[in-house]
Amino acid sequence: MSLDKTSPIQATSLPGDFHAGDTVPSDAYAPGTVRHGSLTQPDLYEAKDERPFSRTVIELGELAAGWNLARIEELVRTENRRAVFGGFAWDSPLLRATGTIGVSIMELWRKDSKRAERIAERDYLVPPEFCSMIKTMIGRWDLLNASSPIRRILAFSSSCEPIGMVLEHARNLGYEIHTLEGATAFKTDERPEATVKFLANEIHKAGAWLQDGKPLDEERLGEEIRRKNAALRKVARILDLRLKRPFDIGSLPTMWLLGGTSGFFGDYERFDNILDRLIAELESAAKTPETRPYLPLILAGAPPGGLSFFKLLEEHNAVIVGLVLLGTALYREDVPPAESLAHYLFDSQLRGELGEATGASATLRRRGIEALIEKTGAKGLVSSAVTACPYASLLQQIERNYFRNKNFPLVALEHSVHNEPITEEQTMKIKAFLEQLTGEI
Ligand code: SF4
Repeated sequence: MSLDKTSPIQATSLPGDFHAGDTVPSDAYAPGTVRHGSLTQPDLYEAKDERPFSRTVIELGELAAGWNLARIEELVRTENRRAVFGGFAWDSPLLRATGTIGVSIMELWRKDSKRAERIAERDYLVPPEFCSMIKTMIGRWDLLNASSPIRRILAFSSSCEPIGMVLEHARNLGYEIHTLEGATAFKTDERPEATVKFLANEIHKAGAWLQDGKPLDEERLGEEIRRKNAALRKVARILDLRLKRPFDIGSLPTMWLLGGTSGFFGDYERFDNILDRLIAELESAAKTPETRPYLPLILAGAPPGGLSFFKLLEEHNAVIVGLVLLGTALYREDVPPAESLAHYLFDSQLRGELGEATGASATLRRRGIEALIEKTGAKGLVSSAVTACPYASLLQQIERNYFRNKNFPLVALEHSVHNEPITEEQTMKIKAFLEQLTGEI
């Protein structure tokens, strides 16, 4: 039986994933696009910048689009490369130092996410109302179990409890899992040496696991930290230049730039070259500062509605000048490399960066937001959270109370991990927020 690709179908005799009577929106299974009402959209790393500032931005988009799970699986199969799920941001120097490709957990919901969610609900009995991230993780690992050559998962145990449950399901499926024991910096003014040493030791253990017992080479780790720092400095320079010319580099390429600092989309030299060219182009453009009014905003959390959210803001001359999830803070180079990674993680937790999976502090994310507001002159905050995440709902409540008490405008939005365009209701909410702020610009 062939699937109708244009409209929802009643599946009555489908084998495998579907049960009789299931209503299956078949477009949700097409790679890279989803149907939501009458709209489809590519995901953020496959989308094209519709008004690229230069050829360099187009090249950046091509580099980002070419780096995905399918490409990594191909490298594992054809070049015998080592790859693990996990290892996306703070630990990326560790993965690079061990010659391992880290597959961001976000890859799990870039494709087949609706199908994965159905499997989680049907086979793993995850309640439908539970967070889509959890359902997609276990459903997608289940789907990939038969086909993917990537069989290992590097986990961090400070993530939420349901993720621990998902990892156990993945272990039962046959994936090999290594967990970095969780360490959390609960207090800003305390950094016990023993805690740093503990996490540094965990990093060494993970390094040996990644290399099948071979010890972690700290010298190589140091090189990778310096490399990442160099990229972070360049991206920070681009973000500063963007404040002078906010319309040149849109939200989409800004996401690519920040996302690229972890794994360089698999090609450090090319990514580095793109950064150099972009800086030169923007420095030249910045000689003529932008005079058109714009509305500077901070985005805390992931963009709800993905590409459609960015487009909506851009239609209203609103520019995201600061993102809290991914920052440009540098790794320390004055301490041994494994300890540098440990310090970086603790500092990120206290800034509320990197998200809940790395033990980020809900109560302290507002400090990161305030620092960004001060630096960028932002006039409003978009606080975004995954629907039904207990952690995120607490975090949003804290932000609502805190910023409203300070009379700083905030709009709180929820989203799923599915790549779905922004809903009508959210569109109205954001438009009302922007109208409320327009008098400020
Ligand atoms: S969204 Fe919340 S509940 Fe869901 S996996 Fe992330 S932290 Fe856990």
